[in-house]
Amino acid sequence: MLSNIKIILVETSHPGNIGAVARAMKNMALSQLCLVAPKQFPSADATSRAAGAHDLLSNVQIVESLAEAVADCHIIIGASARDRTISWPELTARQAAEKFSGPQYAENKIGIVFGRENSGLKNDELDLCRFLVKIPCNSAFSSLNLAAAVQVVSYEFFMAQGKPSASEAGDKETDPLATAEQMESFYQHLYQTMADIGFLHVDKSQSIMRRLRRVFNRAQLDCKELDILRGILRFSQNHNQ
Ligand code: SAH
Repeated sequence: MLSNIKIILVETSHPGNIGAVARAMKNMALSQLCLVAPKQFPSADATSRAAGAHDLLSNVQIVESLAEAVADCHIIIGASARDRTISWPELTARQAAEKFSGPQYAENKIGIVFGRENSGLKNDELDLCRFLVKIPCNSAFSSLNLAAAVQVVSYEFFMAQGKPSASEAGDKETDPLATAEQMESFYQHLYQTMADIGFLHVDKSQSIMRRLRRVFNRAQLDCKELDILRGILRFSQNHNQ
């Protein structure tokens, strides 16, 4: 299960933090690290801060966009210290670890996304996330160092291994969950259909799409359910022509 977790760092500025993240991950038996447009990598600072975790740095995945980083993930969790004006479903690090370590998620790839040191994650990046995870801490000083945040979240996933999952007991999920790439292509289809049938006003489309994403992300659609929804969209487009 820990091998299904991908830690994703968005536009990290300090390469030393990348090394410290690799070390924190290896301590907690995580191995997949992905960097989205890092400011500087590879770097001697990253290598020295990784201590004995050089293998993670050599196997790192480097991509240009967050969409690419999460494309193969079934569950995407954004780590944020900040309160947001639009609320995403929010979990503490412990709740997230206990929820997603359950047997029903064993076959799923989980992406956990961490933001920039100076400005965190943008709302359009959180749009790609199905959940938001927060590390509870001093509300007057709630922003942890990037590697410290990865350490706490990884620790909770490590500790949750083998514990019975508190949530979703009795869930019988047989079809695999849709990946982020499949969900993005569904959202584009949904947007296009709503535009074609004259439902969308350009000035309001962004907030409507953000709310609709929240609805579908809450539902955690599997592939078969997604096929049905796309079938409905195709049908309504054909009948609108
Ligand atoms: N100053 C930034 C925070 C940067 S800390 C801001 O305004 O958002 C770098 C990253 O570490 C954050 O984007 C987040 O992914 C993670 N992080 C830091 N503190 C956290 C906390 N209390 N809970 C969850 N994630 C946290």
